Amino acid sequence: MSDVIQAIADEVEHLADPRQHSEPRWYWDVQRHRKPLEPHRTTVPGLVEQLRQLAQPGASVEAGSNGYNESAPAAVDAVSLLGSIEFGSYRRLTDAIERGARVERRRGAEACLRALVGIAGQFPYRRDRVNPYRCQLCVAAGRRGDEIYAPCRACEPTVQLELLRELRSWRYQAEIIAGWRSPPMLLPAPCPLTDCGAKGSLLAYADPDNPQARCTSCGAQWAQVPEEGVGSIAVLAKHVDAYAGQSQESRAKARTEAVEERRRRDGEKPRDTQGVQVAG
Ligand SMILES: [Zn+2]
Ligand SMILES: [Zn+2]
Repeated sequence: MSDVIQAIADEVEHLADPRQHSEPRWYWDVQRHRKPLEPHRTTVPGLVEQLRQLAQPGASVEAGSNGYNESAPAAVDAVSLLGSIEFGSYRRLTDAIERGARVERRRGAEACLRALVGIAGQFPYRRDRVNPYRCQLCVAAGRRGDEIYAPCRACEPTVQLELLRELRSWRYQAEIIAGWRSPPMLLPAPCPLTDCGAKGSLLAYADPDNPQARCTSCGAQWAQVPEEGVGSIAVLAKHVDAYAGQSQESRAKARTEAVEERRRRDGEKPRDTQGVQVAG
């Protein structure tokens, strides 16, 4: 199994399959030493099922350490994300079947996600932005076929890297909503990818083992340990620092210019702070 297919399978496992969760426990002996107890082991449903439970009015789910259970915003987020996953996975599977993938139609997010793992090897690896061209398959199918991506989205709605990014994005969001992960922090720089450059879209996720960041606009990702389709967070951090420094410099420059402009308008000479005499 290639790295990207393995990564797709891992993400689907998080979303669709129940898992063992072990909560560490401690006690204090007579000398007040902290001693470990057997961890409290529970089986938690897959993230999609957790969302489903949160989406039911008044229902609660066994949530993570900083779990909040029945708050209204969590429920609204859960309904919305669940809808995206249900619709998105069904759409991708149906599109693939219509383009000849040999797999049965499924209903329900978990079934669609597992079916997508089974056929992921048949999708092209990635999509590249290229010079405008005419897609001959589109022309043959009666479409205009003017494209800037190869393969084009009409002919290949799903490529492996996009599927992986979408699954990761669903998992991050589900983990935040279900209380397993702290909400992300907004990074003060635009997305560094030249294709994207979106502002206010870079989010950093607190994760002690592997700090991660992603762009909510184009789906690009960065991590401490770069993997398939994931950039280095050190490179991203340099970009954010450089941008912050630059914007500080340009703010300072803009301030100076504004002051000078004002002085010119007011006909005021720059103040001479050197020759001040102290009366004696
Ligand atoms: Zn095409
Ligand atoms: Zn971006």
